[in-house]
Amino acid sequence: MALIDIETARALVLDRTGRTGREVVALRAAEGRFLAREAASNVDVPGFDNSAMDGFAVSAGEVADARREAPRELRVVDESRAGRPAAAELGRGEAIAISTGAMIPAGADAVIRVEDTDRSGDAVAVLDAVGPGANIRRAGEDVRAGDVLLETGIRIGAAALGALAAGGVAAVECARRPRVAVVLTGDELVEPDRELGPGQIHDSNAYAVPPLATDAGAAVDSVAVIGDDRGTTTRAVERGLAADALVVCGGVSVGEHDHVRPALEALEVEQVFWGVALRPGKPTYFGVGPSGTLVFGLPGNPVSAMVTFLLFARPALLAMQGADPGASRVTARLTTPYEKARGRAEAIRVRLGAGAAGWEATPTGPQGSHVLTSMLGADGLAFAPADADELAAGTALPVELLR
Ligand code: AMP
Ligand code: MG
Repeated sequence: MALIDIETARALVLDRTGRTGREVVALRAAEGRFLAREAASNVDVPGFDNSAMDGFAVSAGEVADARREAPRELRVVDESRAGRPAAAELGRGEAIAISTGAMIPAGADAVIRVEDTDRSGDAVAVLDAVGPGANIRRAGEDVRAGDVLLETGIRIGAAALGALAAGGVAAVECARRPRVAVVLTGDELVEPDRELGPGQIHDSNAYAVPPLATDAGAAVDSVAVIGDDRGTTTRAVERGLAADALVVCGGVSVGEHDHVRPALEALEVEQVFWGVALRPGKPTYFGVGPSGTLVFGLPGNPVSAMVTFLLFARPALLAMQGADPGASRVTARLTTPYEKARGRAEAIRVRLGAGAAGWEATPTGPQGSHVLTSMLGADGLAFAPADADELAAGTALPVELLR
């Protein structure tokens, strides 16, 4: 097994990654999707001049001298409420009661807030002066019709959904979600609701890996659990090759019962690499099926499976949707010394904290590839270089954020 470094492996994956198609998606279904075309507002936001306050619409010139000691009395002739504009136009000596968000009546050029007035019946005493335009939110102040709200490639989240709705956009063009097939291999695997027999373990990858795919915007087509047997493995892999990406966990190492690579070979999947100078995750496999399916063979150890998915499969799924495949990175200093073996880079699961001199990274605990609890509460993966052994406290490392 000739080991390649992480960046080379990632570049090889992205090099073989194509784009999914596009489709029109209704706003209600668009959360978490990636835009395949920029989205522009259909309307001005706000759509009309409106009040920023509850109060009275007035002509600023008429109340220019108003003070608490010398109020200006006006006649209240109508009301403008949100969604129910006033019928009357503002005339001399008049005010129109107005609510936040309600249309500014014709003839008014300012709003005096209710706190600066004293109303009794049809009369209102204005206790303060306001300048023209005071407390008025102008039409188009936030967005103009035709303005681009969201650029191609962005992921649609809460604020984007709100901005699209405000702009009168009911549907957007998104990248099709990549379809992912997940295969878990191992004679030892049983479901979490079953009691364990001798040598059996609960299948944790079947639960930890699919959400990583959905997090990356993919749709998980199938999750199949199979035993360590050549025929079953070949059939499961063959079905999985119908997806855009196939993720096989376990059975990809050099053991006598590791059937994944021979099965892939028999199905004419081209091996691009097998073996990354990474801990955890050394036996990671990547290949491309005859119809272009990306095939990720991830080591079965639960931490290895999660870490290698995040490092290699996630960027591919993002790139398929036209999104930036690069992870968010910060630089952080280790709060404790860290010992590692020379020869392979290490992805240390760390918690991040804000220190006086910037981000600080604390390993989450024992870092064995089988210690799944090391992923709990981890904010990121800190990369220790392959050629290092003992890292002193204070060493600055690049950290890829998990969220
Ligand atoms: P393998 O990559 O198949 O050699 O498996 C390496 C280690 O990961 C073994 O200890 C397996 O029992 C364990 N393992 C494999 N698949 C899973 C899984 N789906 N869930 C939890 N542990 C697994
Ligand atoms: Mg196995």
